[in-house]
Amino acid sequence: MPEVIVIGSGVIGLSAARALQLAGHDVHIVTRDLPKNTTSIAAGAVWSGSALEGRSRIWAAATLAYFLPLTKEANSGVTLQRMREVYAERVPDPWYRDRLPFFQRLSKHELRGGLVGGYLMDVPMIAPPIYLQRLHDQFLAAGGTVEKRKIESLGELAGEAPLLVNCSGVGAREVAGDEAVYPIRGQTMLLDAKGIRVGYMDNVAIDHIFPRADGVLIGGVKQKGDWNRQLDPATAADIMRRCSKIERRLANAKVLREFVGLRPGRDEVRLELERLDDGGAVIHNYGHGSVGYTLSWGCAEEVVALAEKAQSK
Ligand SMILES: Cc1cc2nc3c(=O)[nH]c(=O)nc-3n(C[C@H](O)[C@H](O)[C@H](O)COP(=O)(O)OP(=O)(O)OC[C@H]3O[C@@H](n4cnc5c(N)ncnc54)[C@H](O)[C@@H]3O)c2cc1C
Repeated sequence: MPEVIVIGSGVIGLSAARALQLAGHDVHIVTRDLPKNTTSIAAGAVWSGSALEGRSRIWAAATLAYFLPLTKEANSGVTLQRMREVYAERVPDPWYRDRLPFFQRLSKHELRGGLVGGYLMDVPMIAPPIYLQRLHDQFLAAGGTVEKRKIESLGELAGEAPLLVNCSGVGAREVAGDEAVYPIRGQTMLLDAKGIRVGYMDNVAIDHIFPRADGVLIGGVKQKGDWNRQLDPATAADIMRRCSKIERRLANAKVLREFVGLRPGRDEVRLELERLDDGGAVIHNYGHGSVGYTLSWGCAEEVVALAEKAQSK
């Protein structure tokens, strides 16, 4: 019997599984989908701290500290990317400004079309197909095991391990019976575009241009309550039109891949230990919405601390 079963192999499950393994635990993953079919594969994915409050800032800061050294490692799938983050209103300096290697406010002449505030900064940019594969490979190489299996509820795993870690993303609505979880549908396109050195992020219009290790990812949409995992050609055309208006070099770029992902929406992340009647325990770690990469490693470190608490009884 494994010591810990992690449910899910998106960025949240893989990070938790790997952090637990690094802390000396024997970990088994049970997952409906392998990483290449998760929401996590569809993500941007930039470290993005601006909208965060409370505990999320602590997790994001820990994740930033984990990602920054990876930007210097070849083939990690994490690069240091200069980004413009823009707003239609004046914005204060963000809480994380002094943690970044480069940060400056955008001046008026750098902003167009009704935008009045924003930042120019260097932040970690993750290429999910590379980063997730690497985490998965590291997990297996260190003796971890993966079982492809859909579970209907946590009770189904009773007796299979003393500790469960529930990282089922939007699937937590079913797995944990949590009706506060809902999908926020996203759609993105990976382009073979050259020469785009500075990325772009408008989180209100959801105009995203992310140069990363495997191409330039553009997006997107945030469609609350939409469970549709199929690509919508009209949405793709609209994303291309909006992003090409911002960056003309995108207009004729070849499309390498298209993605759909269901962000796990919830008012707040659920990261807590629950003791079960059968003497076992479950650590819930889901509901990361639009910032799963940004919070991933900090949450994984908290899972390790909670696992120690669960075992100490
Ligand atoms: C278009 C888009 C852009 C994004 N951009 C960014 C960004 O720039 N920065 C950022 O920080 N975040 C970004 N995100 C958000 C981020 O991708 C998510 O928060 C993150 O992927 C959630 O990870 P997860 O592991 O919880 O969920 P998932 O990746 O959905 O993984 C859930 C796992 O649980 C498994 N599972 C579910 N139900 C069951 C079941 N019943 N039985 C067994 N296994 C089950 C699934 O098979 C899967 O393996 C973006 C998301 C999208 C869609």
